[in-house]
Amino acid sequence: MSRSIPDKLRLLVAERAAFSCEYCHVHQDDLIFSCQVDHIISLKHGGQTREDNLAHSCLTCNVNKGSDIGTVLSSGGRLTRFFNPRKDKWATHFTISSGVIMPKTRIGEATARIFQFNAPERVLRRQLLMAAGRYPGR
Ligand SMILES: [Zn+2]
Repeated sequence: MSRSIPDKLRLLVAERAAFSCEYCHVHQDDLIFSCQVDHIISLKHGGQTREDNLAHSCLTCNVNKGSDIGTVLSSGGRLTRFFNPRKDKWATHFTISSGVIMPKTRIGEATARIFQFNAPERVLRRQLLMAAGRYPGR
């Protein structure tokens, strides 16, 4: 199994996402590090390097997600999968208020928690970008 992603596929993923993170919606021009290609279902869990399993992700979302595919929201609870940009509509699972990404569903809650959407510096960045008319980036 190869971990390399062909340049043509990387470009398709970036263009499809309008060069923004498909999880937190920050445009890559507003980040220090460019976005990366994320395997929605990680290779470790059998995901494939195919366009329907790839997402454009900022470094912070991608690092926080790691190879995880979901989390347990409460003690003894069931696994709740993460938001999947290929299958889910963002607005179904999240809304934004004053720079805070607020979950609307359990999938949104699992994703927001593990991806650390609302770490103080990330909320501040979104507030500044909103004030400048640059957020959401897509
Ligand atoms: Zn992100």
